[in-house]
Amino acid sequence: MAAPNVAELIAQGTKRLAAAGIDSPDFDASSLLASVLEVELRCIPVMRNDVVSAEAKRLFIAYVSRRAEREPLQYITGDTEFYGLAFKCNAQAMVPRPETETLVAAAIDRIGALKDDAVIADIGTGAGIIAISLAQALPGAQLYATDISPGALAVAGENVRRHGLAERITLLPPGPFLAPLYEDGVADQIEVVVANPPYVATGDIDQLQPEICRFEPRQALDGGPDGLDCYRELLMACSELPRLRLLIVEIGAGQAEAVSALVVEHLGAAQIEIIPDLAGIERVVITQI
Ligand code: SAM
Ligand code: GLN
Repeated sequence: MAAPNVAELIAQGTKRLAAAGIDSPDFDASSLLASVLEVELRCIPVMRNDVVSAEAKRLFIAYVSRRAEREPLQYITGDTEFYGLAFKCNAQAMVPRPETETLVAAAIDRIGALKDDAVIADIGTGAGIIAISLAQALPGAQLYATDISPGALAVAGENVRRHGLAERITLLPPGPFLAPLYEDGVADQIEVVVANPPYVATGDIDQLQPEICRFEPRQALDGGPDGLDCYRELLMACSELPRLRLLIVEIGAGQAEAVSALVVEHLGAAQIEIIPDLAGIERVVITQI
């Protein structure tokens, strides 16, 4: 059989992914082939008639099989985009979600209004996307990023280097919540805490789409029996930070009231603001202390 061209391989991959129930089979097949050929997705249309080598075809078919098994596209290609920036991505860290851009936009606005040289902690940094987006937008800020997962911190480290931000983002050794800040002796400098903690109720995880529940780290999702365990721990710990002025956390659908109550319980703060995401779901809780 003659060697296939780009258009033929994409058609074949699209058919297989559609049969596997993937929502955007053509986009995914095109993205996978772009990754195999090491070109940008936007180059694919002009390459339609290019012949693909046997080796590239083999790799593409392997990638399509992984996607058909519902592995997230971003884990297969190894990269993703968030807040207009490119990031490395693998199964050690959760795939960044578009709703987290709501947190980043709000954080840039509020921290920018607070001061130019804020000292910020990103708790549960995952692939490092919040810390890196904030560092890019706030050139005077100094950031510390923590995570309980050594694997996630390894991904974050690659992303920090990729963006040339190693001087302004310190990745601390793994540990729970604020412990790494205390171990490093920087807890008393922190003025802003940002976090997208795990907030899915344990019993709900298996109902999430297979890409999430079968492939993403459970540690990135599991918020305990009611999804709120991490807020309890984090807010209690934040109440001990002497210089804390601003706390910005992402929340799950329907958690605004409970998280606001925890904020009042632990921080006694009067100024709480809740911001919806682009779907209109209450997504970010901002507390000024
Ligand atoms: N910040 C990234 C983002 O927004 O895409 C990742 C968020 S993910 C929902 C939560 C992250 O918190 C995971 O990387 C997980 O490893 C980390 N994590 C879970 N429990 C933690 C804990 N007790 N202390 C610190 N980090 C924790
Ligand atoms: N938004 C994620 C989801 O897809 C959960 C992220 C989190 O727990 N912070 O369910």
